[in-house]
Amino acid sequence: MNLPVSTTPPDALLVRYGELALKRGNRFQFEQALMRNLRAACSSIEPVRVEREHGRLIVFAERRLESLAQRCAQVFGVTSISPAWLAPAEPEGICRVARGVLDDALAALPQGARPTFRVLTKRADKRFPLTSLELDRFVAERVLREGDPLVIELDRPQLVLGIEVRDGRAWVFARRIHGPGGLPVGTLGRVLCLISGGIDSPVAAWMALKRGCEVRYVTFHARGFIGEPALEKVGELVRVLATWQGSSRLLVVPFAPVQLALKAVTTSALDEGYRTILYRRMMQRIASRLALREECQALVTGESMGQVASQTLENLSCIEAAAELPVLRPLVAFDKQETVEIAQRIGAFALSAVQEPDCCTLFLPRKPITRGRIESCERIEQRLDLETLVAQTLEQVETLDLA
Ligand code: ATP
Ligand code: MG
Repeated sequence: MNLPVSTTPPDALLVRYGELALKRGNRFQFEQALMRNLRAACSSIEPVRVEREHGRLIVFAERRLESLAQRCAQVFGVTSISPAWLAPAEPEGICRVARGVLDDALAALPQGARPTFRVLTKRADKRFPLTSLELDRFVAERVLREGDPLVIELDRPQLVLGIEVRDGRAWVFARRIHGPGGLPVGTLGRVLCLISGGIDSPVAAWMALKRGCEVRYVTFHARGFIGEPALEKVGELVRVLATWQGSSRLLVVPFAPVQLALKAVTTSALDEGYRTILYRRMMQRIASRLALREECQALVTGESMGQVASQTLENLSCIEAAAELPVLRPLVAFDKQETVEIAQRIGAFALSAVQEPDCCTLFLPRKPITRGRIESCERIEQRLDLETLVAQTLEQVETLDLA
């Protein structure tokens, strides 16, 4: 049989999502959110039309489907994407398209590769004349050529020529691009992430996004003491995270006045050791107020258990006690290496690795407390008019919308 070689671009993207994880009641909301997020993510490349069909989404666009596929691979809720070609829903027509799809897949193989291979049909359209197994065999017999570098293997093959027949049309594909999984951003609600320029908080934000949170960001910056590059770096990190959610809001809190006030009331050797914890408690207080303003339901931090001296259970308790909302710590049980791997994967690591001081390094105590006590924190804080300090700080907050 003379089958033409396809060098034509795909007709659409088949987008799969983790429907098994869904409860019945959530399905509709999940699918609507995913469709909305896919359209929004693609819009900077090309306008798309998204159709829903039997537990799949199909993304149509006039052009640039390859770039769109890469873009969809950054949309939470998507488990995989296949650029796919449309074929008439009849066996011969499918074979004609299938050889072209296979040629493209073979052309992309590394030199000398001989992957295991099979044809795998899914037939939602029961009017079709052949069963799935019959169509697998029918296509394989007609499409494979002597000399194709393929080893037929039905069990866990490396290369699958996929065919899906449904609603009077067939889709043919050979590639599967991994998606990030998770839940569509926005389906769980909105959170405020305390982000520094470090490695951890951007990863914590990414994990909150992955579980369906819309994330807004707050950073504390000691202007006048800590240089502007430290703040620019946080902005860059938020931009990287914006590729997973779209335009993202960063609130910048000028923190030097608060730190100066805390320094002034921690002059004894013992009290001085509390400075870092006290900074963090003020961050929680201010972030809680901002979260309410921004209609966020929880705070997110990059803290994990025991990673640094300030992250003992005692100190985490002291810090959390100042928050007015639940504090989520997606990295709580991660080793540093696990966090670094995710940071690398999401493109944040190189930025985070650039050394810039954090405001918490300002007026560092000589001997930081590792087992803080809440009563001691409160005893020191009584020396300040906290409400006024918080209110004055809130007036100075800057809002940046970054994309
Ligand atoms: P990171 O890598 O995120 O800086 P870390 O492991 O260095 O985290 P800490 O520096 O102790 O740990 O910070 C703990 C958490 O406190 C951070 O993950 C972040 O959520 C928050 N945080 C620290 N400094 C700031 C800041 N300047 N602005 C906003 N949040 C901050
Ligand atoms: Mg840090």
